[in-house]
Amino acid sequence: MKYLSTRGQAAEPGFSDILLGGLMEDGGLSLPAEYPQISDAELTAMRGMSYAELAFTILSKFATDIPADDLRELTAKTYTAEVYCNTRPGSDARQITPLRKLENNLYLQELSNGPTLAFKDMAMQLLGNLFEYVLTKRGDSINILGATSGDTGSAAEYAMRGKRGVRVFMLSPRENMSAFQRAQMYSLQDANIFNIAVRGMFDDAQDIVKAVANDLDFKAHNKIGAVNSINWGRVAAQIVYYFKGYLAATTSNEEQVNFAVPSGNFGNICAGHIARMMGLPIRKLILATNENDVLDEFFRTGIYRPRKTADVKVTSSPSMDISKASNFERFIFDLVGRNPAVVAELWRAVDSGGSFDLSVTPYWADIERFGFVSGRSSHADRLATIRKTYKHYGLMIDTHTADGLKVALENLDADIPTIVLETALPAKFEETIIEALGEKPWRPAAMQNIESLPQHVEVMDINTQAIKDFIVSHIG
Ligand SMILES: *Cc1c(COP(=O)(O)O)cnc(C)c1O
Repeated sequence: MKYLSTRGQAAEPGFSDILLGGLMEDGGLSLPAEYPQISDAELTAMRGMSYAELAFTILSKFATDIPADDLRELTAKTYTAEVYCNTRPGSDARQITPLRKLENNLYLQELSNGPTLAFKDMAMQLLGNLFEYVLTKRGDSINILGATSGDTGSAAEYAMRGKRGVRVFMLSPRENMSAFQRAQMYSLQDANIFNIAVRGMFDDAQDIVKAVANDLDFKAHNKIGAVNSINWGRVAAQIVYYFKGYLAATTSNEEQVNFAVPSGNFGNICAGHIARMMGLPIRKLILATNENDVLDEFFRTGIYRPRKTADVKVTSSPSMDISKASNFERFIFDLVGRNPAVVAELWRAVDSGGSFDLSVTPYWADIERFGFVSGRSSHADRLATIRKTYKHYGLMIDTHTADGLKVALENLDADIPTIVLETALPAKFEETIIEALGEKPWRPAAMQNIESLPQHVEVMDINTQAIKDFIVSHIG
């Protein structure tokens, strides 16, 4: 499998190369040169597979430069009931992403049973093992630098802790994270994990990461890497649970399903789009946003209008608070017939602070072929959905999943199942759950007292040079 750039770069790298890199050299995003197609017989064979076997079967089509036996071992080691053990009472952890029936033709797929209680663990845990494997083979190392508002940073740290050849430097805003999120990250004591709390906001932390990444000499010399939302390995690993959800909700390959996906950077639903392009019988991809509705606006109007960072609304589903969707370029590449010149032209506008309108182009006539519908949800909607779900099904859901369920309910089809992806457990967003229900959410036993564990964090000013110095002095 060769990979290309959405903006047309000539060199076609392999899976292991793009795994460790970020943007392609021309500023575009990597995608497979073509999407592998799943035959009816293959889909039938998948019905008997464990999650780990399914992950191996699907990822072996994309990671063709990793020997099959090695990939099988990596997926077997990643997708175990021990790693994804934080299931609610009554859910089967061995399913890895168990499907819970809410009512006829409406399901929740539990993707948030990993170590940090958010769906990001599904891909990040594999990435940790893949990084260690590739780096060991190459005798190389990497220093991951990232900024987090909560979920990504903890998922990356729990995936990379103790991994050979990998260090993580994670910047977080000193304020603005929940006590639970702070405790999750700062209580890690592993020697290769460095938590840096910046005296500022998430955007200040993000700006420092960008400034370091733009210093190409520093970056190359200190082997700085990233595991952000555009990482192709993350998108690829997420394809697997769409297959798993489909197989669990159906008994024959004639059946279709819908997926509803709480969306921010378009990483999760991009994997759903690729699963559908591979031939998985998905009728609709139901995209849900919160008040930050850049993507809902696009799918309703054809206009992609990234917001200014200062205009991002702070909401009670904070992991979806985005000004632009960093994986969206991957979908647009497919929508415009995989023409990199068109994508490069559109992103010339986006990268200089502008927008584009596809409704006035012939491409818009094609949009329905891709199955997307969309909607948005507000704080009041979230509270109402959390209450309704608790009352009707006795189930507590988190604020992001509530956005997904709200928009799913507006787009149900009577004749086929709709699967809502659960992107976090409610324990991560305790405050809003208490606001909605007047009681605290359930927590896995191992996390009962996480806030009282000793914490390990360096507090620093918003100063790029100081952060660079910190990195240099800790990589020896
Ligand atoms: C990251 C995240 C999202 C958004 O996912 P994208 O891949 O950025 O679209 C939604 N919900 C939760 C809980 C998340 O952590």
